[in-house]
Amino acid sequence: MLEERGKVIALGSLAVLLLSGAAYEVVIPHIPSLCPTLNNCARDKQFDKLYHTAVRTANSALELTGQYQNLLELKESRDRLMSAIDQLATIPEDVNIYPKAEQVLGEYRNKLQEVDKRLEIEKQASANFTAGQKLAEFASNEVEIAKTIGHYQSAKADLEKAKAKLEQIPADSIITSQVQPLKAEYQTRIKTIEGQIAQMRANLIHIYWSNQDHWMAKMPEKSVALTFDDGPVPQHTNKVLDILKKHGVKGTFFVVGRNVDNFCPTLQRIVREGHEVANHTYSHNSLPKLSPQFQKAEMEKTQKAIQKCVGTKHLPFWFRSPYGAQNSTTLKVAHSVGLNTALWTIDTLDWRYRNNADYVVNKALQSQGQDIILFHDHGSAGLERIIMGLKNRGIQFVTLSEALP
Ligand SMILES: [Zn+2]
Repeated sequence: MLEERGKVIALGSLAVLLLSGAAYEVVIPHIPSLCPTLNNCARDKQFDKLYHTAVRTANSALELTGQYQNLLELKESRDRLMSAIDQLATIPEDVNIYPKAEQVLGEYRNKLQEVDKRLEIEKQASANFTAGQKLAEFASNEVEIAKTIGHYQSAKADLEKAKAKLEQIPADSIITSQVQPLKAEYQTRIKTIEGQIAQMRANLIHIYWSNQDHWMAKMPEKSVALTFDDGPVPQHTNKVLDILKKHGVKGTFFVVGRNVDNFCPTLQRIVREGHEVANHTYSHNSLPKLSPQFQKAEMEKTQKAIQKCVGTKHLPFWFRSPYGAQNSTTLKVAHSVGLNTALWTIDTLDWRYRNNADYVVNKALQSQGQDIILFHDHGSAGLERIIMGLKNRGIQFVTLSEALP
């Protein structure tokens, strides 16, 4: 009651001063805020209380909105604001506090829209974060079982997608502090995979023209294929054949068609001693500069020369470009002639280091198996040491067709 009277005095002090208590009821009935009846005053008091409770709730909500640490807190702040709005909306127009209530209600509704926007942003950020982590986890599994370049590329693509998900998270999101280190981690992992791909590329041999990765899965462990290019030339090839024979080792000879026509008996010895014959063009020209027709002729003429010398049984199905120089035409043409193309994984550079057998030996002995080692018929110095060194490591010698069935 005291409080009510105080309010009346405060609000209508002039009227109270000038008019008697009886006149007061007559003069000011149209101002609801002045609480004309006791009943109305009780109502005003009730909504006053409601108003203050709602404002307190709203203030606590807004405080939380300004400093929320996680999605749950943001949701909580929205719930509180919503509850304040609901309470304020029940205040009727004819009570004292209504104008103030209406004003804050407008403010709170605007704030609610902001909170809803924030909530949407944080939900999206959280979804992106989770999606990114899932993709990164998937990439880990892919890397673990990766055998081919394709597998690594797929893992890399997934990590890039994971990173892109993280990049969509706005800088002012609550999870931003977690996003930065994760982004850096994914970038590091992408770099590692790129390294693995580069390493595999360096070892890549184009075996199947349509599937360059295929050999990785097929080449047996603890085995190497010794391959000899540019023969048959009797004075060179016979030295190689003698060493292979002495150690019971089979190799693969990429022969030049022109040499086959000139030195058929040497090719016949190659075949007789159980080695594999392969195609190294007819005139040892670099192929990429040639038209498809000429590339094809280089391969076909050699096939014919070999067939003429040692018969259909020894018709090659491996082809190696001179200097390893090949383009997509080469691969297509080889395929159309029924040849698979094979380069090498270790180049001994025996043609450059003819007088430095140590270099060639060291190079070849880098192999831990699963290698195709490139020699030339004229570079047989060091071959015997290489064979013994590899044998000591338990490595077997296979022809290309045995290595890559
Ligand atoms: Zn060659």
